[in-house]
Amino acid sequence: MCAMTDEAGKIAIVTHMHPDGDAIGSSVGLLLYLQSAGKETRLVLNDNCPESLAFLTSGLEDRIISYEVSHEKALEAIRESDLIFCLDMNSFGRAENLEDALRRASCPKILIDHHLSPDIGCFDLVFSETAISSTSEFVYHILTGTPSVGGDPGKLPVKGAEALLAGMTTDTNNFANSVFPSTFRMASELLAAGIDRDAVLGSLYLNFRENRFRLMGKLLSDNMVITPEGTAYMIIDKDMARKYDIKEGETDGFVNAPLGIKNVRMSFLLKEEDEKFRVSIRSKKGVSANKCSAMYFNGGGHELAAGGKLYKGKDIPGGTVAEAAGYIEKHTREFLSGSIG
Ligand code: 5GP
Ligand code: MN
Repeated sequence: MCAMTDEAGKIAIVTHMHPDGDAIGSSVGLLLYLQSAGKETRLVLNDNCPESLAFLTSGLEDRIISYEVSHEKALEAIRESDLIFCLDMNSFGRAENLEDALRRASCPKILIDHHLSPDIGCFDLVFSETAISSTSEFVYHILTGTPSVGGDPGKLPVKGAEALLAGMTTDTNNFANSVFPSTFRMASELLAAGIDRDAVLGSLYLNFRENRFRLMGKLLSDNMVITPEGTAYMIIDKDMARKYDIKEGETDGFVNAPLGIKNVRMSFLLKEEDEKFRVSIRSKKGVSANKCSAMYFNGGGHELAAGGKLYKGKDIPGGTVAEAAGYIEKHTREFLSGSIG
């Protein structure tokens, strides 16, 4: 692939905490390619892969190490690597518990990412571009550009190509957002190479558990608040998550729905955890989800899709759902009054 990979014995791929379709898809795509090139490669995750994405990692269980399962094995895998790829994350901090090990690792590190504000000083080689749909698409173009693939995606491992298609599909919300000419080119080339898109879509979108839809209905009918300024927000507290038996990754996509409402300019989904609320933000053109997250929600991401955290104690002293709601209303009122559109 390049001199750095040629020289490396052991390679680790690391991606962001709470991995989504693009994080897992791009990682599996790269992992299978490197393995097919004879490289001993492991994917080191902070958390377990969500069940909804397990179809991408089946058969690779011995290649994947998660900090959630074994702190020591995950840190050791990073320590022992000769080369580390960081995918779909713009800074080491996005790998949460793996951050220190990444900082300390003396081997070369390569970033492949499409988020704003990459921490380029931490890497020896940087592939960072925001005008691309997804890290999966980025990996696709890099791999198809290697001499061994020579522009023919039929030479990629089939499961790897499927994973890249899945990652691009989820990050674009199935071709609805962040789609570029290069994205359609990727899709077209993969279809021409015989990749089974129907199977990929079936695994992604026709395979949810019923409880996910029950919760979505409950949120949209009883929980969603829309402010006069055009902020929509929904908050899943711990009781609700328990009652509906919600697993990691199962509410992905919920935050997009309220953006479909005419006067909504920004949509929030909050999920309560012990010490914080996890925040997902989506916005319409003219409103920067990234800026709003950086200013008020300890996070960032993309212009129209970002995430962050609202800390109990620090941001909302009592840590209640009512305070979280008040915080969103107050800060988005300020924020939207300064945004165009
Ligand atoms: P989601 O709302 O789907 O979790 O995340 C939307 C986008 O924001 C993704 O590209 C994700 O990587 C990014 N993101 C999510 N949470 C955080 C965060 O806490 N910090 C930063 N910097 N980005 C985040
Ligand atoms: Mn991504």
